[in-house]
Amino acid sequence: MAFVMREPCEFLPRELAHLHAFGLGLKNEMALSPWALDDATDLLFERGARPSECFWLAADNINALFWGLHDWAHFHNHGPFVERAWTELQCDVSALAWLWINRRDAELDDSVWDRMRREAADLSRLRFTAEGLAFDADMLASSRFASLTR
Ligand SMILES: [Zn+2]
Repeated sequence: MAFVMREPCEFLPRELAHLHAFGLGLKNEMALSPWALDDATDLLFERGARPSECFWLAADNINALFWGLHDWAHFHNHGPFVERAWTELQCDVSALAWLWINRRDAELDDSVWDRMRREAADLSRLRFTAEGLAFDADMLASSRFASLTR
């Protein structure tokens, strides 16, 4: 999975995209360095740069697509990373909502989407527990996504 740069973004750490997204035909395209996601979030905000103006997401499987979308949501959560469980939940919900809305184009079977939703809920529960917070499973209930349509 890689955030491939539409054009060189000199203000962001970058590496060759094909090092992080195999088998997609990428050659000399540059991508955001994977370790620089948090810095990029703040740098994009400081410069008023929209993520979609800078990147497109390269992912060769559904798991990579989920995490790419999750990370893409991080780009919109600049600033101190203080409420980790809540921020991560927000990113998970954003990724799941995008996948639900686009599941036909992404050739994503409903059962696969629901497995991802359950796994995201399990992970979110662990994050909330680790921070000593109560987790409301309804926040990632499938019914919350069912009303989202194209
Ligand atoms: Zn995250």
